[in-house]
Parts: sequence; C-alpha cells; structure tokens
Amino acid sequence: MYTHLLVVGAGFFGAVIAERVAAELDLPVTVIDRRPHIGGNCWSAVDEETGVECHMYGSHIFHTSDGEVWKYLRRFTEFNAYRHHVWTQHAGHVYAMPINLHTINSYYRRNFSPEEARAFIREEAAAEGIVTPSNLEEKAVSLIGRPLYTAFIRGYTIKQWEKDPTELDPAIITRLPVRYNYDNRYFSDALEGIPLDGYGAVFRRMLDHPRISVRLETDFADLRETLSEDTLVCYTGAIDQFFDYSLGRLEWRTVDFAVERPPCADFQGTSVMNYADAEIPWTRIHEFRHYHPERPCTGRTVIFREFSRFAGPEDAPYYPVATPRNAALLEEYRRLAAALPDVVFGGRLGTYRYLDMDDTIAEALACYASVIRPRLIGTVRRR
Ligand code: UDP
Repeated sequence: MYTHLLVVGAGFFGAVIAERVAAELDLPVTVIDRRPHIGGNCWSAVDEETGVECHMYGSHIFHTSDGEVWKYLRRFTEFNAYRHHVWTQHAGHVYAMPINLHTINSYYRRNFSPEEARAFIREEAAAEGIVTPSNLEEKAVSLIGRPLYTAFIRGYTIKQWEKDPTELDPAIITRLPVRYNYDNRYFSDALEGIPLDGYGAVFRRMLDHPRISVRLETDFADLRETLSEDTLVCYTGAIDQFFDYSLGRLEWRTVDFAVERPPCADFQGTSVMNYADAEIPWTRIHEFRHYHPERPCTGRTVIFREFSRFAGPEDAPYYPVATPRNAALLEEYRRLAAALPDVVFGGRLGTYRYLDMDDTIAEALACYASVIRPRLIGTVRRR
C-alpha cells in the first residue's frame, strides 16, 4: 500500500495532483521544489519598486475552452476580463498578431475584403507549389505566402529557436491562427483572463491544506535514496534529468529577461510587443501593468525584454525543441519511465511537451483520476 505521495515540482501539474490527493483522499502529500517559490514558471509576484505584479517567467495568460478546467481553477481564483492582444514590429512599423485581415491589409497597403484577402493569399501560397508541408517554413508559406512569412515569422522563429525554420516541426506554427477578419484576439478560446490577485495567490490557495507540506529549495536528487517503499512519486521535473541524462540530454530553449523600469507610467501601451526582425536581438517585450486594467495605476512601470537561447545544464528549461533527434530520445526515456512502478511522470518537463496551462491542468486532473487515485486507494498495485 502507498501511504504517502511525494510531488516533485510545484507547478500546475504537481499542484493539481497534490490538491486532489489531499482534498479528496485525505492522504499526506509532500510537495518539493528546488526553487524558492511555488508555481513553477507561472509564478507571479509584485515588483516592490513599481508596485506592478510581474509574471516572473514571462507572460502567462490563462485561456481555455475546457469548462471543467475553468470550473476547477475558479475554486481558487476569480479572473479579470483581460483579453490578450499582441502587436509585432517589423521594419519600423507596428502590425497586429496573429496575422489577420488588419495585418494583411496594413502590410500590402490594401483594403481587401475577407474573401479578396483569402483569394490573394491562396494565390501567393499556391505560387510556392507546396503540397504536403514537412517543416515549419513550408507550413507557414503554405498558409500565408512567402512575403508575410518572411516579414513576421522567419526572423522571429530563428531568434526563438536558433534553428532554420526548415528544420523545425510544422506543428509549432499551427499554434498561431490566421484570420480573414479583424479579430485580433491572440487566443481563440471561449474563456480567458488573469487571476484577479495573481498566479502566486492561486498556487498558495491550491497548496494550503493541512495534509500538504511544501518544502522549497529541495532537490529530488537529495531525497531519492531515502524514499520509503510506501511513497508514490509524481515527478514533474525534466524526464532526462530523472535518469541522470544516461541516454543523453533533451534540448531545451530557455529565455533571459532584461528587467527595466523606464521613467514613465506606460512604456509600450500593451502587454506584449513582438519584434519580428532578426536584427533586433530580443524576441518580445512584456509590460505587466497591462494585465490588470482593473487595478489602480501605480504611476510606474516595469518591462521584461526577452532573449531566447539554448538552455545550459543550470538554466530553467522553457520550450522543448521539436526535432527528430529529440523525439527519438524522448521515446527512449519514455520506455525507461514506463518500467518504473512507483513513479508517475507529468507536466511540461516530465513529458517534454509544450503545454499550455489549461492542458496541463486537464492532464493532471485526468492523471489523478485514472492513475494516481487508483494506485493510492489500492485498486491498482503494480509491484
Ligand atoms: N511566431 C512568429 N512570430 C510571432 C509570434 C510567433 O513567428 O510574432 C511563431 C514562432 O515560431 C513561435 C510560434 O509562432 O515559436 C508560437 O508562438 P507563440 O506565441 O504561441 O509562442 P509562446 O508565446 O508560447 O512563446
């Protein structure tokens, strides 16, 4: 019998599992995280100098079309009415992202109707003769034609991934919609918002339970030799690290932020400005005051200028790199993971996938119901 759950990592996957086990099964849960705070990359905290709440690992906008996930998270927070809009700078001009009728008309200096724009782009794309796109560049060109791809996608993608777009998985670009109307909402989901009192408060409430103990600045590597037989582990750290990189390292992208507090109340007039051109070294600038239009303006602002690069061994992993080499290596690690009866892998790092917050929560709820709960209440016993 398992009598205890150890959750490694206090991001959304780990926090949901811990919360469910404590609240529903009334079993003791220990949550460890090597960082000095809970919340993983979703962590937010108020910047003391400016009074502005910052998403410490870059912008996190909660959006979902999954009513169950929304209902679950609303137990821990209300959301504000924020709707995400992104702008992008190219050759000294500002355009709307994702690419929509406004972007197309501004770029080509036309006033196409939706149908005219669709026909125009279809012709641009057809000129390339791509039948089955096999990489990001081909996929993007087949969707929007080469000029728009070159202006808005190519430079940004090279900066973000440091690979030629012909080497990248076409799926990366299908995250971005192309719209033939003037809807420039970044996300198409029905439900969207920022937690009213920030992500930090959400995680504090999720983990605030007498059966949950949280140990920060605690490394799994220092504990694993001392684990007792009756402990089930939910591991949300990097899967290759769990196996001491024995088969090699999975590649990750990380980001660096240059934090600035410009002497004004509003630096860029919006929360995220992308920089599409390869000559500008940063990919985007986040200005967090815009995530809470309902809060009184503090008269100050803080911006994070984002630079992307490959993660070294000590860096925070952000984005898995979708290449055939990494996919094959992941399969090998998955085989090793499947053979471990006492460890359940989950989350972005544990499964080496780029997951939005809502998908992470949905997967954690499903994992709790179909894997963790049955094992903890003894209906499934693998060893
Ligand atoms: N992308 C781009 N130009 C942009 C924004 C995105 O080329 O202005 C591409 C880029 O390849 C990126 C992908 O679209 O990796 C997904 O972008 P998204 O905004 O979803 O990335 P995230 O905000 O999650 O980092």
